[in-house]
Amino acid sequence: MKEIKNTALLVFICEPSETTLAVTNPASGELLCHIPTQTEEEINTIIERSAKAQKEWKNTTAKHRSSILNNWYQLLMENQDDLGRIMTLEQGKPLAEAKGEVAYGASFIEWFAEEGKRVYGDTIPAHTGDRRLMTIKQPVGVASAITPWNFPIAMITRKAAPALAAGCSFIGKPANQTPLSAYAVVELAYQAGIPKDLLRLVVNHSSRLVGEIFCNSTTIRKLSFTGSTAVGSQLIAQCAETVKRVSMELGGNAPFVVFDDADIDAAVAGAIASKFRNAGQTCVCANRLYVHDDVYDQFMGQFIEAVRQLKIGNGLDEGVNIGPVIDQNAKEGINKLIAKAVEQGATLAYGGSPREGLFVEPTVLTDVEQSMDIVQEEIFGPVAPVIRFRTDEELIQNANDTVYGLAAYFYSRDIGRIFKVSEALEYGMVGINEGIISTEVAPFGGVKQSGFGREGGKEGIEEYLDTKYLCYGGV
Ligand code: NAP
Repeated sequence: MKEIKNTALLVFICEPSETTLAVTNPASGELLCHIPTQTEEEINTIIERSAKAQKEWKNTTAKHRSSILNNWYQLLMENQDDLGRIMTLEQGKPLAEAKGEVAYGASFIEWFAEEGKRVYGDTIPAHTGDRRLMTIKQPVGVASAITPWNFPIAMITRKAAPALAAGCSFIGKPANQTPLSAYAVVELAYQAGIPKDLLRLVVNHSSRLVGEIFCNSTTIRKLSFTGSTAVGSQLIAQCAETVKRVSMELGGNAPFVVFDDADIDAAVAGAIASKFRNAGQTCVCANRLYVHDDVYDQFMGQFIEAVRQLKIGNGLDEGVNIGPVIDQNAKEGINKLIAKAVEQGATLAYGGSPREGLFVEPTVLTDVEQSMDIVQEEIFGPVAPVIRFRTDEELIQNANDTVYGLAAYFYSRDIGRIFKVSEALEYGMVGINEGIISTEVAPFGGVKQSGFGREGGKEGIEEYLDTKYLCYGGV
């Protein structure tokens, strides 16, 4: 952690003990530091204090909350370089991408600082002459969140910022593999003026225990989860008993489609960005490519050439595009999917050679069939399986042939086809001639087993608000 200039961002580092959590660098395996964990009793105390803090916070003005959130946004941007470095050290993504995530994460704070000032209710034309009807929006109360390792900052700010702007308090559990940048961001929140009890992170060696405490608590009124569908569905079930409000941002299996009328240069650039960002470890990464027969040779020639240019290495080194994957399990899972695809008849068109440590070579597979595991499962690695197609009907059927429904992408210049395909794709988000679509100004989220609820956009703050109907009689 020697590279970090603002050492105030590292206040969480502690001496190792039996209860502390060790955080390592996936690029080198080196131990970065230890941080404290919280016991069940300590987490329960944090929840109770959070409820007290929320009672005061909800009575502040939206303008006051906005100004503090804006301070927080400014501090993230001023510390972009250090936050990016901490993220690359613990998560592995290239430094430029990590700094990009800091700016992306900060953008949600800036956005919701504004949105919080526009939490409007309605006046409703009454059904009788002696009544007046109105709705007001109120914060849900204490909000909690559990987030994954692939976006250690943005997944926290995308939830904490709307919660705080709405007047909620917030308790988050970052992934145990990448808690450092989340803690650094929360430290900046305190510097910005956010009361400590209002915004807290907790970690424990048992994520299951933290999940159970959050779900079973009657004080916590909301759980927002980003992670795998398997864990998400378990948390939905656990929240049933306390009838907690829940939002779920879960796994994806994004199709990336190149039609015969596509701008091939743009499609190649989009496919590279969408497939290989964060070494393929994003929920909206292109998981499977469909290329029309008539442009297949042209697209594949350019695509493989572009993949050849990608440089693998430590994310802190200049010019690196592909960092390590998160851990040995992830690496083995990706390699198994490649091996199984080859066994099922796919051809290794590029890559696939073994690499040291946690690195996986960018790989392209051709002669891929719809039924193969690599098409049906979320790969979460730098591997692109490519399928040829002929008709729009066949394409739409195969693109929708998955339990997931997060993001989809297609490249076409035919306006009729663009409307038809956009509407036919059963996904929460569709990129049309774009490979990177996430932004704080638009609603992010999925359908089917990719979850429910939306983050960002005008929808994001609604996840932290209850609508109260007021009926004034005798007037
Ligand atoms: P994961 O295993 O579901 O973990 C996500 C979070 O849940 C981590 O903080 C993890 O803690 C925690 N967790 C694990 N088991 C738990 C349990 N039984 N009870 C409570 N919490 C538990 O997912 P992942 O493998 O880290 O992340 C990758 C997945 O996230 C992919 O499927 C990806 O598509 C999805 N994702 C979705 C979005 C989206 O917006 N839709 C965005 C990013 C990622 P520990 O890590 O500490 O164990």
